[in-house]
Amino acid sequence: MKLTKLVIATGNAKKLKEFERLLAPLGIEVIAQSAFNVPEAPEPHCTFLENALAKARNAAKHTGLPALADDSGICVDALNGAPGVNSAYYAGEHKSDADNNAKLIRDLQGQQNRRAHYTAVLALVTREDDPEPIIAEGRWYGEVIDTPRGDGGFGYDPYFLDTELRLTGAEMPIDQKGARSHRGRAFAKLVEALSERFSIDGARP
Ligand code: IMP
Repeated sequence: MKLTKLVIATGNAKKLKEFERLLAPLGIEVIAQSAFNVPEAPEPHCTFLENALAKARNAAKHTGLPALADDSGICVDALNGAPGVNSAYYAGEHKSDADNNAKLIRDLQGQQNRRAHYTAVLALVTREDDPEPIIAEGRWYGEVIDTPRGDGGFGYDPYFLDTELRLTGAEMPIDQKGARSHRGRAFAKLVEALSERFSIDGARP
């Protein structure tokens, strides 16, 4: 079976850009779910996996096309893994990056342990009731810093330091972030699984 088109189940323009960049070499046409006016899926679950699957199914249902979704977030050790699946809404339903970051830094005030990681779970379904969704996950380890650095990326990136490279997510060019990030790592696994199941031009050796 050939995979030629994928709906990306996100309303986040920056996430979409990262996906477009990752999928371009595979020769798969990427369409944003907004092009079909897909309503945002509820994310009521306590796992990234369940939320990712719910978003992918929702997009497949409304478009009749294969769909790829990601559910992701930042998990902070000193906060017992919060904000986790609630990362987008940490400071409230209005989903503001600035407010989320301000709350995170407030919650970590005086805290010595700054370890954190991003997690991403990707879910790809060929149709709403696909019994064999392809699932891939990735993590990116680092720490939360008090003073923002860089103006790239999105979300918590200016405050998330890759402790190996000593750069924040917002200081990395998009390709470098793709090579280091939770989403990039999950994506590499997804491509491996995809090339087993589908004929994909760019994934062939
Ligand atoms: P989702 O769209 O429900 O998966 O929410 C993901 C949230 O996690 C985003 O709104 C960001 O706050 C955060 N997040 C996920 N991935 C990243 C990233 O690569 N950089 C910065 N923040 C991220």
